[in-house]
Formats: sequence, structure tokens, C-alpha cells
Amino acid sequence: MMSPGNRLGRQSAVRYADGTTMPASQCGIARMVGVARDLLFPRGCAGCDKPDAILCPACRAQFNQIRERHLPETATGRIWCAAAYEHAVRQAILAWKDHDDTELDKTFAQILTEVCRRCAVPQLRKLNSAYNGVYSDILIVPAPSSLASMRRRGRNHMMPLAQTVARDLNLQGFDARAVSALVSATEGGRSVQQHSAAQRARRVAGHIRIHPRIQVRGTMVIVVDDIVTTGNTLHQSVATLTQAGATVLCALALAEAVSYRDDHDSYGETNAQSAYPALQS
Ligand SMILES: [Zn+2]
Repeated sequence: MMSPGNRLGRQSAVRYADGTTMPASQCGIARMVGVARDLLFPRGCAGCDKPDAILCPACRAQFNQIRERHLPETATGRIWCAAAYEHAVRQAILAWKDHDDTELDKTFAQILTEVCRRCAVPQLRKLNSAYNGVYSDILIVPAPSSLASMRRRGRNHMMPLAQTVARDLNLQGFDARAVSALVSATEGGRSVQQHSAAQRARRVAGHIRIHPRIQVRGTMVIVVDDIVTTGNTLHQSVATLTQAGATVLCALALAEAVSYRDDHDSYGETNAQSAYPALQS
């Protein structure tokens, strides 16, 4: 995988012994070096391996087919996904998640931001007009990864995406920020005794809890995830956030694993339950 540094290297100039320089693009040797480097470290599209693209336009277009699934106990009752988890979409997400193709961060952040603009923002505007703008404090919260996956990747791979979504919401007049408010229950705190009602509220029967230093009470949350399979992680995330006093608007994801799709989940259905009558129209 070619690093951004290698890419920039193509733009440099070549300096000769007499002090003259020539742009690398006009220099045969530099071009040969570039060709050799591309042969040694080729950058292919993460979806189809087409040369010289991070994600080629054809594969990028496959992330433009928004799908909807039910997510009870949220204000909209919805999960919105950019694509079905198959073919090039699957290849690209695997390259990003499991093979650390961090050059995809920016592209996937743009994809998730588009889903947010198309699906979540209209709902936020409806809520704010129905309830006098009370939901301007918005948290973009990644669904938690297991400690093992975080260690393997050396980072929370959803955070750059959550941050881009939050920045875009701010540009549209909302007050949003990305926070890792949810952690896998195996992360830290195993030795911490939790007895009070407030502490118990931080836990659910599952394996997800609120980060002890993050306050979510009174906020509006959008949960973001990479792939929705059974939806169990998102259900647990919503339950945990709700018990801690947050209102979850919806979840957004890059892709939905279609083999786990429920029969009554389909795009455009209007029978999802919402705690907010303003969102039912
Ligand atoms: Zn491609």
C-alpha cells in the first residue's frame, strides 16, 4: 500500500550536479523510478483493484444506495446504511478495517457524511422545529469495537468518520462533536465495583457501557458504525445510551449485511416506532 508521502514524491523536482533542476514529471529517470515504485508498491482501488485509485468512481457509486433498517427505541426508529455489504463494498470495507488501508478514511468519512445529510439532518431539523431547538447538542458516537480489535488496529477506526460527520453538522448550524462515549465492557473498569443506581444505569445486560469520563445525559446522539450485521451491537448501544439519559436519534453505517436482514425491514417503510410524533410524518 503506497503511503501519501510516496504520492507526493511524484511532484518533486530533480536537481542535477550543475545546480539546474527539472520537474520530476519531465524527467525520464524520475518517471522510471515512479514506474518501478508503482510496480513494487501498487495502489489499486480498494473495491476492484483498478490502478491508481483509492476507491474508483464505479466502486464509490456503490456506496450511494441508502438502505434502511429498524432500530427501536431511537427517535426516528431507523438505521441508515450507505450500501449493501457485498461485492466491491465488502472488499473496500475489509481493506480498510482488516488491512489498515487508512487512505480510505477520508472517502468513508464523506460517504457517512452524505448519509447523515440525506437521512439524519432532515429529522434533526424537524425535531428542532417541533421542540424549539432543544436538540442542538449532538454527539456522534462510534459503536464500540472490542478491545482486541482496537489493539490490533492501534486506533478506533470509526473516529475519523465520526469527526467528519460532526464537523459537517457544525457547518449546518448544529452543535455537534464526536466522542468515544461507548466502550466494550471488557475495556478497563473490570475491577471497579458499581453499586449506585447511577452506576448501574451505565451498564446493560450486554457488553457495552458508557465511558466513565463522558457525560451523555441530556444530549442527542447519532451512533455510527461500519457494518450492521445482526444489529445487536446497535441495539445494545442504544439501550446503554438511553439508560444513561441520552436520546438516540438514529444510527448511520457504511453497509448493511443483507443476509442478516429482517423480512420486515425495508427502505421506505413507515411503521418504525418513534418516541417523537413529530418524526412520524
Ligand atoms: Zn473500484
